[in-house]
Amino acid sequence: MNQITPQPGIMDIALYQGGAAHVKGVENVIKLSSNENPFGPSPKAIEAVRDSAATLHRYPSTDHGQLRAAIGEVHGLDPERIICGVGSDEIIAFLCQAYAGPGDEVLYTEHGFAMYRISAMAAGATPVQVKERERVTDVDALLAGCTERTRLVFIANPNNPTGTMISSSEVARLADGLPPTALLVLDGAYAEYVEGFDGGVEIINSRSNVVMTRTFSKLYGLGGLRVGWGYGPHEVINVLNRIRGPFNLSSTALVAAEAAICDAEYVEKCRAENARLRVWLAEALAELGVPSDTSCTNFILARFASQDEAEACDTFLQSRGLIVRRVAGYNLPNALRITIGDEDSCKRVADAVRAFKESVA
Ligand SMILES: *Cc1c(COP(=O)(O)O)cnc(C)c1O
Repeated sequence: MNQITPQPGIMDIALYQGGAAHVKGVENVIKLSSNENPFGPSPKAIEAVRDSAATLHRYPSTDHGQLRAAIGEVHGLDPERIICGVGSDEIIAFLCQAYAGPGDEVLYTEHGFAMYRISAMAAGATPVQVKERERVTDVDALLAGCTERTRLVFIANPNNPTGTMISSSEVARLADGLPPTALLVLDGAYAEYVEGFDGGVEIINSRSNVVMTRTFSKLYGLGGLRVGWGYGPHEVINVLNRIRGPFNLSSTALVAAEAAICDAEYVEKCRAENARLRVWLAEALAELGVPSDTSCTNFILARFASQDEAEACDTFLQSRGLIVRRVAGYNLPNALRITIGDEDSCKRVADAVRAFKESVA
């Protein structure tokens, strides 16, 4: 018998549950389970992917200089304080690996993104969950949850799967109230969907204990390529770069992300269409007795009377080829998370929920 065993705690990590993409026996499904951009990537990003094929024998850039410069240009940030990763998931993992280990605590909220817990445990640290207030991040609960062992505090703003966000003054209050050992991580996966919101740049620039993570997987429609980035104090970026693999991003991913972020017109079109359809769908469902909080993202969290009703509606939607996301694993058993698709998809969702409600009335 060998004595090969993983590090303590690894086998306690529950596997990440991705959004489903298929329904048995149903063809032509519409996938609204992973908050993907229904319009796909920018045509310029697609062209960049094609063009990159001829030089795939070359290793990619190790410092991502061109992509960081483009991000810096578009967002008005110092490229020296940007790090790129294989999705923002990798930046989250770097943060946990670099700043938390056995005996340390990583704080996040009751409906917080699954990767905070997974990455904390993968680093051997202890994940600690605090309450939200009616599906909104509760700064007081986070501050009360801090101990001398707290090393990282993760919030997504806006949050997934609730769709809600907290104000900059609340984020600043959180940053300023943390123990000196704790780094605040602002996950801005949905920041692009909020008109005029920079994800918290001012808060980061005026402090030494705040970083943000961003992604190309949502508004930019590049989830399949896996590109994300982080921005923070020089010291933190310098730390993260030491554990980053030198070729973590492929040359294809780098050029596609650069083309995507430079296509301002396409980005604006997707943002505006999402905002319009989000309001439409939320109102249509509310009229059917399915309320949701005002969403700042590309999905809505539809609330049902009970877990049974939410699950029955999900099953009904599936029978019509509509795949949405159950969120019981995020402590929201009565809700379904529905990505805002294109106009036809939104109409089909509203029609299906109406038919479901009529079928059980
Ligand atoms: C989708 C999402 C991400 C993005 O993950 P990537 O690894 O960049 O694809 C990060 N945080 C939250 C809260 C998300 O919903």
